[in-house]
Amino acid sequence: MSAGPPYGVYVHIPFCRARCDYCAFATYTDRDHLMESYVAACLVELARASGAEGMPPASSVFFGGGTPSRLPADLLVEILEAVPKRPGAEVTVECNPEDADPARLAAYRAAGVTRISLGVQSTVPHVLAGLGRRHGSDQAVEAARAVAGAGFESWSMDLIIGGAGETDADWERSLDDVLGLESPPPHLSAYSLTVEPGTPLAAAPDRHPDDDTQAGRYEQADRILSRNGYRWEEISNWARPGHECRHNGLYWDQGDYRGIGSAAHSHRRGRRWWNVRTPDRYVAAVEAGRPVLSGEEVLSDEQRRFEALALSLRTRLGVPLDALPDHPELEGLVDHSGGRAVLTVRGRLLANAVTARLRTDGPARVGAQAVGAAAAGRAGARATGPAGTMPPDA
Ligand code: SF4
Repeated sequence: MSAGPPYGVYVHIPFCRARCDYCAFATYTDRDHLMESYVAACLVELARASGAEGMPPASSVFFGGGTPSRLPADLLVEILEAVPKRPGAEVTVECNPEDADPARLAAYRAAGVTRISLGVQSTVPHVLAGLGRRHGSDQAVEAARAVAGAGFESWSMDLIIGGAGETDADWERSLDDVLGLESPPPHLSAYSLTVEPGTPLAAAPDRHPDDDTQAGRYEQADRILSRNGYRWEEISNWARPGHECRHNGLYWDQGDYRGIGSAAHSHRRGRRWWNVRTPDRYVAAVEAGRPVLSGEEVLSDEQRRFEALALSLRTRLGVPLDALPDHPELEGLVDHSGGRAVLTVRGRLLANAVTARLRTDGPARVGAQAVGAAAAGRAGARATGPAGTMPPDA
């Protein structure tokens, strides 16, 4: 990997076979006819970004969605080939279990994909049905086998805590099934189910998750994963050493990244901007030679300092001690070690309350910069939102 700070490229693929009950992401089930023109538009946006904008070569590339694996593999590869990359760049593709067939995975490997992120969510049939997922538990196991069999050394699996009808025993079974695979995923994400307005889940209060139950299952997950050699990386992410997601780390380090495609967000040195939300408007804008920008914001220095601390607090790096003054409310929520304040397991469950106590004045400012510098050494995924929320590709 060549020198220079990490730089990420995120490509949004807004197509799904069916909409899961809990999903409020920018994805569509009735726009497959746009796939070819959408890919052509992404290529135009990439050319603009690497031309006039001076986008540097990427240290990590992440295809998220939606369901990136819903695109024919050759179309996805066309985009990947157009992304300027550094040697050794990490390239992740999110994949639904029903798409993880050996031919597709082989095409990804041949094109330089280094990591698969498999959206499994649960291995228990009635929990999958309660989440509105279309794949079965056998498919998830088959997909995991196919990913390992295709030769991916680093890959990840997403699980969801708190689907309707899930019991503690169901949750433990999902973890056991995943960890009992012949080649278990070296990286695992476990997100607490959140109720998003406007979704079928929101309209069904009897299926809403209970906070205390989810908290108990989170603690259970942390115990089981720690016992099995996984290290806590960020509130919802665990990895075996050497299998951390570099692209995620880049987000957590407040790094720069360029989002390509509809609804994609970008960040460069404190400026954030995002593209129009629907693939129709995105394609139409590109074809007409218009900008795809939908909105932007510029963070003040103070906002950036706070955000750096808030992001770092969510990770195992924690924050400098002086960024979190002693307060009775923080009792049991943070551990102090090596000059850092790091969330305890209980603190991870109450991360928003701890974040509200962060101070950015005084020496903590230096600490915030040090966090960025320390973290820059590890390559880094898409931000996964505030404590316990799910990523846009779950
Ligand atoms: S949760 Fe994932 S697979 Fe389900 S509709 Fe949303 S983006 Fe598509």
